[in-house]
Amino acid sequence: MKVIAVLGSTGSIGTQTLEIVRQNQDIQVVGLSAGGNLVLLEEQIREFRPRLASVWLEEDAIELRQRTKDLNIEILSGMDGLIEIATMSESSLLVTAIVGMIGIRPTIAAIEAGKTIALANKETLVTAGHLIMPLAKEKNVKIYPVDSEHSAIFQSLNGENPKEIEKIIITASGGPFRGKRKEELLHVKAEDALKHPNWSMGRKITIDSATLINKGLEVIEAKWLFDVTLDQIEVVVQPQSIIHSMVQFVDGGIIAQLGTPDMKLPIQYALYYPERKHLGGKRVDFFELSKITFEKPDTHTFRGLELAYRAISEGGSMPTILNAANERAVALFLDNKIKFLEIAEVIEEAMDAHQRIEKPSVAQILEAEQEAYELIASRYPSVV
Ligand code: NDP
Repeated sequence: MKVIAVLGSTGSIGTQTLEIVRQNQDIQVVGLSAGGNLVLLEEQIREFRPRLASVWLEEDAIELRQRTKDLNIEILSGMDGLIEIATMSESSLLVTAIVGMIGIRPTIAAIEAGKTIALANKETLVTAGHLIMPLAKEKNVKIYPVDSEHSAIFQSLNGENPKEIEKIIITASGGPFRGKRKEELLHVKAEDALKHPNWSMGRKITIDSATLINKGLEVIEAKWLFDVTLDQIEVVVQPQSIIHSMVQFVDGGIIAQLGTPDMKLPIQYALYYPERKHLGGKRVDFFELSKITFEKPDTHTFRGLELAYRAISEGGSMPTILNAANERAVALFLDNKIKFLEIAEVIEEAMDAHQRIEKPSVAQILEAEQEAYELIASRYPSVV
């Protein structure tokens, strides 16, 4: 029996993780956490019967305690709740499906407690990779990627010697605006950006795909997970989203992982690694597909990737500023307060204003996050 806890169980990755649990008899869920979606969390609690659950606000916790008083469950709140769920003595694996830098502290706590991590929460690695990866090494803790691209790389590296990697090739769909020029994007709305051509994901990551910031965050995530240099990472647009990423080895050979776009495969792979289990769903039909095409990313129109390269090249606290400013800029865009192309401008402005810290501690990362939030709040006082 696998015993797991899930942070962010009500989100896109969280609910798909629970679908996998539902389809298998050998996984037990002992901890669930959500932000504020009490209705769904209560349903999940009734179905999966965890020992602990947590929500962000104590007032929500009070309400949930009331709603679940017929059950034998403890309801927690806030950061303490997240950390308790992350470190539950009976669980051996933590799925970090929470969105944002709020995942840093619980992830660190879980590693310190020796839990295997199935990591979806990329913001944690982007901003604190320099703390997370050495800690995982020191504690001999495995981090299995859930992001489809990183799972594809991980699968391609199975049985290979990581020292023989020449290059990692991360594929990108190009998002809903692929092929458009800047002038055509001047007036696009959130609902247009939320229409991803291939993947069904949470709102923030869908906008991040449209700006190519998501690909930038993935480059940074790959650098940390696979211990490669930036020069060893290439981004290739592959609009059909069939090749999920590839590894080129020193002899020129390339190993890729292909499949239909379905996050359940990388989630399940991380839960069961090194075992593969049956997973239903659509299979790739090469005759229906007929072709797989490749393009260079348009970093002139979609500046997210370029900004991410700048952030990780400068290093230290700069990726935190990139990430935090992006979080706020996406929220502003979703709220129709800024235009699509302004997302990159907001991020760049925050990065330009930041005095980089070389190897930031968790406290300094959170201070840098706050600095970016405050700068943006001063520019858009009525909305942030
Ligand atoms: P969603 O927005 O769908 O879900 C986010 C989850 O985090 C929800 O359960 C939400 O709870 C919870 N949450 C938000 N704020 C808090 C908080 N303050 N305290 C506790 N829980 C909180 O996101 P996704 O599932 O799309 O993404 C999750 C992570 O996985 C992100 O880091 C994303 O980049 C990454 N990822 C996602 C992919 C995808 O296909 N969706 C693919 C690859 C990576 P509630 O709903 O109750 O507010």
